[in-house]
Amino acid sequence: MHYQDKIKKKDSSTQEARQGVIDFGAFDDEPQALQEQPTPATHNTGKSPFAGFRYISIGSGSSGNCAYLGNENGGFIVDAGVEVPKVLNALKANGIEQSMIKGIIVTHDHSDHVRYVYTLLRTLKTVRLYCTPRVLNGLLRRHNISRRTKEYHDNIFKEIPFRLAGMSITAFETSHDASDNMGFDIDLNGSHFVVATDMGEINERAQYYMQRANYLVIETDYDTEMLRQNPNYPEYLKARIKGAKGHLDNETSAQFVAQNYHPGLKNVFLCHLSEHNNTPELAVGTMTRALQAKGLSVGNGSNEPSQRTCDIQVYALPRTEPSLFFIL
Ligand SMILES: [Zn+2]
Ligand SMILES: [Zn+2]
Repeated sequence: MHYQDKIKKKDSSTQEARQGVIDFGAFDDEPQALQEQPTPATHNTGKSPFAGFRYISIGSGSSGNCAYLGNENGGFIVDAGVEVPKVLNALKANGIEQSMIKGIIVTHDHSDHVRYVYTLLRTLKTVRLYCTPRVLNGLLRRHNISRRTKEYHDNIFKEIPFRLAGMSITAFETSHDASDNMGFDIDLNGSHFVVATDMGEINERAQYYMQRANYLVIETDYDTEMLRQNPNYPEYLKARIKGAKGHLDNETSAQFVAQNYHPGLKNVFLCHLSEHNNTPELAVGTMTRALQAKGLSVGNGSNEPSQRTCDIQVYALPRTEPSLFFIL
């Protein structure tokens, strides 16, 4: 599939998310001060003075996905595919105590995203799992995940925002081959953090949310040439990865971000890099060149003084190690 075929043409029916917010208030100790702050006048005009996402990835890719997204008071886990002690140790090392974790959301029911969800729920005790009914049913069918997971479950639905840990989360449809598949747009006082992983093509709804991101986690699973030349992958598996319900390659993601760049987009996190069909250097290099071709200066996300002034930061999430801890 050529990269242009993986970015779906938009029709005229692009719509805002449905109005109305489900508030999981019982599990959300949002302080009053946050609610009273004025909303910034415009979206995507750069860093809001009230922003303040905290982000760390603990694992990214087919061996296990897990990240934490929060604000200064607390946050939630996105995907539960990494061993629980490793997750909690990485968070504690960065000042995130267990009590600050207010919930778990999952993108889809493939095991690299849900393998440890029940263990994590049991460990955290008081938090809930927020996912669609189809994701829950999909993960309950897995023999290695306890059916008691459903005792911790609250339903969410695509395109209907819900509040958790002081943030508004909207799930959107993605093109992938699990029971149900979604990305997330997380709104903190008008700043948008968008998680877009595991998708064979960028469908219209995903484009809508990804285009307004200030901080974007985007899949760069494989380098097309490395995948083509890999002698250890059978053709059917290569076809599944490249297919419309498989994964995104470096070039497709790079072209998408370059074509949709706006000055409010500050950080691009490359996720779900294949161990065998990609390298961080290739993924970052492809994205960097596409952005530089637009005349943009590209930093490495390190927050060093020489990098901080760049137009945009590009950083590949490590596959099996915790990433840097980002305060955005
Ligand atoms: Zn995955
Ligand atoms: Zn998947």
